[in-house]
Amino acid sequence: MTNFIQTSPLRTLENTVQDHYIAAEKPFSTVILKGQTVRIEDSYGQQAIDTLFYNAEDYSERYSSQDTVREQNAAYISAGTKVMSNEGRVMLRMTADSCGRHDTSAGACSCESNTVRFGHGTKYLHACRDNFVAEVAKYGMGKRDIPANINFFMNVPISPNGGMTIVDGISSPGDYVELEAEMDVLLVISNCPQINNPCNGFDPTPIRVLVWDGEA
Ligand SMILES: [Zn+2]
Repeated sequence: MTNFIQTSPLRTLENTVQDHYIAAEKPFSTVILKGQTVRIEDSYGQQAIDTLFYNAEDYSERYSSQDTVREQNAAYISAGTKVMSNEGRVMLRMTADSCGRHDTSAGACSCESNTVRFGHGTKYLHACRDNFVAEVAKYGMGKRDIPANINFFMNVPISPNGGMTIVDGISSPGDYVELEAEMDVLLVISNCPQINNPCNGFDPTPIRVLVWDGEA
């Protein structure tokens, strides 16, 4: 499923209700209210944006990659995807996608996995899991509250035999996805700091998150 669906012309930089610039390698979080649309922009291209969603009223309800893949009957997510929770409910609907390739199978980078994959010398590099732990701690959550995530703009082709490899991203500067919230959701992002594989073009860059009310 790859649908290149563009944003609504009613959404401009002047009528946002939130507009956030997120520096390279940093975590971020915000609440998106039911009916609002969030745009996640890969401002410089080839930047993996590790993303989680929680029900803002009850953090025990959270993004489920397994339910999302099963509901779609597709390995990738794109415009039209229903983002599902572990309770089997729709959290958000993906309404626009200018890139067409996003992963929800490969998980987030961690110091531990970096050590196994790239050598012991990488243990002290920044990693998405540390970003997630730091960010969810602001909401009283810990390591065990971090499920498998979405990797927007990360290119992970899955072969017919089920193997997968992280390869060069295909996103261009300014590519974006948009999602309309079906419930109040806590959005948590790790702007991936990985420099040992091509998921960020070996050069992590800033991203932007914008939110519009329902009528825009
Ligand atoms: Zn990462």
